[in-house]
Amino acid sequence: MGSLYLSRLSSEERNDLIKTLLKNQNYKCFICEEPIDLNIHSIDIDHVIPLKLGGKDDPSNFAITHYSCNRSKQDADLRIARILNKFNKITEKTLETKGQAPNLGDILKEYNGANYRLKFKIEGEVIKYSFSEIGDNKIYEARIYEDNLSGFKYFFGVFPIEYLYHDERINPRSIGKNIFKLIKEFFLKRPQLHISLGYIFSQSGSSEIKIFDGQHKAAAQILLNVRELPVRIFLNPNLDILLTANTNAGTTLRQIAFDKSVQRHLGSQLYIERVERYKKERGLPEDDYNFSEADLVKYFKGESKEMKKYILDSIRDWITHNPENKLKEFIDFGGRGKEKPLSYSTIEKTFYSFFIYRDTLHTPINYRLEEGENPRELEKQQILKLMNIIAEEIYIGKFDPDIGTYRIEHRIQKGENIPEDHLIAYRMSKEEIIYNWLKYIAQIIKNYFIMQGKPIDENKLFQYNFPEPLWDKIKIFIKNLKNLPIWVNKELSNTVFGGKQNYEYWQTIFETGKTPQGFQVLPKPINLMEMLQE
Ligand SMILES: [Zn+2]
Repeated sequence: MGSLYLSRLSSEERNDLIKTLLKNQNYKCFICEEPIDLNIHSIDIDHVIPLKLGGKDDPSNFAITHYSCNRSKQDADLRIARILNKFNKITEKTLETKGQAPNLGDILKEYNGANYRLKFKIEGEVIKYSFSEIGDNKIYEARIYEDNLSGFKYFFGVFPIEYLYHDERINPRSIGKNIFKLIKEFFLKRPQLHISLGYIFSQSGSSEIKIFDGQHKAAAQILLNVRELPVRIFLNPNLDILLTANTNAGTTLRQIAFDKSVQRHLGSQLYIERVERYKKERGLPEDDYNFSEADLVKYFKGESKEMKKYILDSIRDWITHNPENKLKEFIDFGGRGKEKPLSYSTIEKTFYSFFIYRDTLHTPINYRLEEGENPRELEKQQILKLMNIIAEEIYIGKFDPDIGTYRIEHRIQKGENIPEDHLIAYRMSKEEIIYNWLKYIAQIIKNYFIMQGKPIDENKLFQYNFPEPLWDKIKIFIKNLKNLPIWVNKELSNTVFGGKQNYEYWQTIFETGKTPQGFQVLPKPINLMEMLQE
């Protein structure tokens, strides 16, 4: 790749260089660390440290990779690319085994951590321990401190990862690609600022050290082959209080929620970049979009999962950040805001998860684009249109950001006068509620097409052009739904609307008119035919 040194080699010298490098690399690809066989594989010679970052253009800075690994690498620096690739591999593995991206526990397992309980003894304000199981018999001592207000006891120490475990209960989140930034930071030798938090129980004289906070930092360092980590360890904590404290630590939650829509945006950028790369590497002209999503996924084989995600990200991102999107200003991207009725995560779990087709399309990207019948274009445009209809019917000029969402039901009980329009918007936006009524919209659309005798694939609902009469029906449904008396019934504020219910709870209410406990809250079950009458 742009090497003067390589370009000057004769083909014999080049072959010798390849042989030497391969031998030094144990006949494995520098990035994926899987075997390379010159008879079978196409390969690349590349600079480990890119020239523009000061890498040398000589054999000391060359490495051999599979051709495809180098072309799909996720960082220009091959040393970083190798670590990111490793993380991707672990992710694929856990997606397969448990259907989820990895958490710290999976990373620990991969690096032979989480093997031993810490043995210790407590003498007054001092705790003593050693790491005998891994051959370190030194007796370490740490002072035990007491938190002034909570009375929680804790100490600090540096612990081999063999003694660290992940706490899934307090920290159930898995680790996504946002760890890449952190890996790079640490790789560039920037220090860890906040240390991980853990706890032990002292009753039996030995305990697993459970890490419940700082899993990204811990995982990033472990991936960089760090074998011991600093931890603040609570001694016999009340786990419920710890759980609450961790949940309330809004910063981390805010961070995660924020990351999500940002990640979508990044995914969308990556999609654009991949499309450009595909065209370039296949020698297609600038304006040729005669290939499909499936072609792209196939071409970037080594990372087909990522590629599929980038495709979805680009759709979500287009809708979310579209300048025409009127619902946007009612969406809280920060996670725990108190002003906006919808959270971004709710939007993902409802609109995007219901209405965006999740599989890749085999039709060319520009398929029927000029006729206005391109399936993905229709899908995006029509989801956006639905959002705008909902924004107009329920939110604009009705939901008042100054009143916000903070403890609304509580404020009603205290006698505060919340305007009805505001209350309707607030209640209809609760995730478990909107989840159910948006499903009815999908049903209305389906029924409409069936009545027209049009065969449809219901997974691709929004890829069919909705005629105006269908839009009218959707509007009428939303109007009628909004007019149900339940949304303004203030007596329900400490029962039905009092806490967070699950999806099924509201499904039952809509289907029977009663709560699962048999409490009548709607005059009668929802009847879709009636809900479509003006
Ligand atoms: Zn490889």
